[in-house]
Amino acid sequence: MAWDFETEPEFQEKLDWMRRFIDETLIPLEPMVEERSAEDWAPLKRWLQQQVKEQGLWACHLDPELGGPGYGQMKLALMHELIGRSPYSMEIFGNQAPDSGNMELLASGANEEQKQRWLWPNLEGSKRSAFALTEPFAAGADPTRLNTTATRDGDDWVIDGHKWFCTNGSFADFIIVMAETNPEGRPYQHASMFVVDQGTPGMNIVRDIPTMHHVDPEFGRLGNHAEIRFEACRVGPEHLIGSPGDGFVLAQKRLGGGRLHHAMRFIGLAQRALDILCERAVSRESHGRPLAKHQMIQDFVATSKMEIEGARLITFQAAWKMDKIGGRAARADISMAKACASKMLLAVLDRAIQVCGALGYSGDLPLEGWYRTHRFAPIGDGPDEIHKIVVARAELGRFQPVEGWPSEHIPTRHEPARRLFEELLVQAKGA
Ligand SMILES: Cc1cc2nc3c(=O)[nH]c(=O)nc-3n(C[C@H](O)[C@H](O)[C@H](O)COP(=O)(O)OP(=O)(O)OC[C@H]3O[C@@H](n4cnc5c(N)ncnc54)[C@H](O)[C@@H]3O)c2cc1C
Repeated sequence: MAWDFETEPEFQEKLDWMRRFIDETLIPLEPMVEERSAEDWAPLKRWLQQQVKEQGLWACHLDPELGGPGYGQMKLALMHELIGRSPYSMEIFGNQAPDSGNMELLASGANEEQKQRWLWPNLEGSKRSAFALTEPFAAGADPTRLNTTATRDGDDWVIDGHKWFCTNGSFADFIIVMAETNPEGRPYQHASMFVVDQGTPGMNIVRDIPTMHHVDPEFGRLGNHAEIRFEACRVGPEHLIGSPGDGFVLAQKRLGGGRLHHAMRFIGLAQRALDILCERAVSRESHGRPLAKHQMIQDFVATSKMEIEGARLITFQAAWKMDKIGGRAARADISMAKACASKMLLAVLDRAIQVCGALGYSGDLPLEGWYRTHRFAPIGDGPDEIHKIVVARAELGRFQPVEGWPSEHIPTRHEPARRLFEELLVQAKGA
């Protein structure tokens, strides 16, 4: 087995182009993203997206049958590390959540007619999507229990329930909704997914929820999180994806790779925050010397770098395993990567804010905005506590209870060790 930390030269060229494009074009435009209206921004966004398409770097997470390059997770991880450097570059590279995951879900579960209606327009960017699973009165961490139901009425399905935190729900052209279709069914076969078009009677978007990111959200803007009430919302049978009870299998399609891409973007952003920290540390003086000469600041730098590299290697390993043995077998590695990267990002951002002092806390630097936006990281995409349970179970699963613990595997007792030593000594002398 080869251990190799090198990138193929042809692929490195693509990464180099991405790095230049992100650092020299996207990052300098960042302050304008919130300032200008969506209408002002639209033609510029299309032009930037076109440059990405011309490089063959658009929506690279997609399989070749959907026009993607079929890169595999390892290459995607390297790309997402760069995409993470600027939070709005996901939009420019065609892998903005939740569209990216929804495309994968539709690609694997939708029939041809459904693909024509929702997948292809979503892929080319003419229709935007959202995903509604989480509910205010049921734990999102345990999606085996949903209060939203879809019941059959003739050929139709009638959806009733209450969803929230549906990212882009007020902006999207269609929403993929997870609802109970067989509450008595087995834990992972009782829910189904439906595509509901914006404007369908009975799908009522109540509001965009104020959050740490947008305290006073403007209704209908990209990136908001909607609260939605489904009140006798009727859809035809052609809106069901797959078969009744397929909801969980389909939900998994959105996750594995997507979680690693999130983790790599967190790593890319953390490195950018550390760059800001370091630049400040070498430029500003306090108590007669640059901040960088104070050991506590050096500790901030060293700890941040070690955490970034640790999370980076864990995530690369998870990506590598996904390519080699598949997402199911790499499940604990994916969970470990996600939980490590989200914890690391907030810690690094916090240190960067601290070292930048009042300026770090201000809106004049992007750090406070990144912190507010990314505080969701340990909550969204499965709370980190759930990911840690997956990791702990995989680790504990290697062990059986031992009678009279500690066992001989833990050499705490002298007698067995002495016996083994004497035995091996006899063998060594005879050899
Ligand atoms: C910015 C943002 C965007 C989001 N976008 C979407 C979206 O587009 N679509 C969508 O459907 N959802 C979305 N969500 C919701 C997200 O997926 C849920 O918040 C998440 O799954 C947790 O569900 P919950 O909020 O109901 O919290 P709960 O399930 O109530 O969990 C709350 C906390 O309880 C603890 N906990 C729960 N179970 C356990 C356990 N077994 N062991 C130990 N601790 C536990 C954890 O600390 C957890 O954070 C988004 C959330 C955020 C913040």
